[in-house]
Amino acid sequence: MKNNYDIVVVGGGPGGSMAALHASKGGASVCLLEKTRDIGYPVRCGEAMGEHAIKQFFPPKSTWIAADIKRSRIVAPNGVAIDIPFNKEQAYVLNRRVFDYDLSLMASREGASVFTKSYVKSIQKNHDNGYDVHLDFLGEHKVIKTKIIIGADGIESRVGRWAGIKTQVNMRDMESCIQYSVGNIEVDANRIDMYVGDNWAPGGYLWVFPKGDGTANIGLGIGAKYNKKKSAKKYLDEFINKKYPNATIHTTMCGGVPCSKPMSKPISDNIMLVGDAAHFINPITGGGIAAAMKSGMFAGQVASESILVKDYSELFLNKYIKLCKKDFTNRHEKIYKVKETIQKLTDDEMNQMATKINKLPTHKITLSRVFTTAIIKKPSLIIDVMKMFAGF
Ligand code: FAD
Repeated sequence: MKNNYDIVVVGGGPGGSMAALHASKGGASVCLLEKTRDIGYPVRCGEAMGEHAIKQFFPPKSTWIAADIKRSRIVAPNGVAIDIPFNKEQAYVLNRRVFDYDLSLMASREGASVFTKSYVKSIQKNHDNGYDVHLDFLGEHKVIKTKIIIGADGIESRVGRWAGIKTQVNMRDMESCIQYSVGNIEVDANRIDMYVGDNWAPGGYLWVFPKGDGTANIGLGIGAKYNKKKSAKKYLDEFINKKYPNATIHTTMCGGVPCSKPMSKPISDNIMLVGDAAHFINPITGGGIAAAMKSGMFAGQVASESILVKDYSELFLNKYIKLCKKDFTNRHEKIYKVKETIQKLTDDEMNQMATKINKLPTHKITLSRVFTTAIIKKPSLIIDVMKMFAGF
């Protein structure tokens, strides 16, 4: 580990590895610091990702994919299920342990220096128009001088806060999540299931994402305000006991997901935040892998340009915000509006919707149709919803 790099990336998730990869590609000297022992582990994710979402970056490797998903099923509060085949593209349930690890390998092949067991503890402005990054590396205190810090340190991000960026999330947008990886269950290996309504997951949804061989990620997210009445764990345990009484639980993970609007200014002089650290998460699905990768890619590109022109100012880095807006944050803003409308639906309304949709011929049942029915009281959002689900 050197004492000086053009760019320091904090966090080795998909956002961090993509940032390191693209910053190196742009010619900068880059180091990526990950606090855990293994990049990709522990996995704190349902691991679902759309086909296009991956293919826009690279062709997926077979080792990344645990299950090919061809259809989804949304289960209404009364148990009525809507089966929805995916039309033009499919989705995957990934092996993120392998996927994240491979992304970090790609970054290192491009020239980035990757370090695990490197826990960033603080950052301080220095007199060289840059920052000093203080870390514990294999138990020893180290200081690295750098021009740009890319904060890819996930939902518990501290880089943003240290740099004075407003990172708080409104409590009403926080979801409490819990997930088990389970074995010994019978599930359709090509279908993801989502349960909605107050019985299963008030203010959120419950997912069953298969991973092959009778295994699945089963988890849920509930609105933070509901957690006080009954914990997310209790909802999940009740579901598993009812639906999969023979399931064996192999891992348990908990975490918060900010299903909020994207952060409007995830930058300041010398600093850029990507992925979860910037609240770049689809506010309806809670999915954030694709946005982490995209924002990581843009941040890496802009950071390496800033090194070339020796301009690390917020004004220059604003280019990063423009790229994200055009690509996905404007869309996330619209999805947030759709979420606000959907959250107002009562269980009865959802039951009626499911019954109505199930009367349609099978080929007319699409995700787009389900969501346009759900926002029928807000017709101004219909076009946005149709664009959101084009392809599925
Ligand atoms: P992360 O993947 O969280 O990576 C951040 C990294 O930074 C971590 O490795 C961490 O160890 C490291 N780090 C943190 N602080 C420091 C520090 N001080 N020093 C050094 N390293 C540090 N998204 C989907 O697309 N599909 C899903 O099915 C899905 N399911 C989910 C289910 C749950 C229960 C949860 C909680 C999230 C889910 N997500 C899902 C969201 C997805 O996991 C995240 O959006 C994605 O991992 C974000 O990537 P990232 O690189 O921004 O952050």
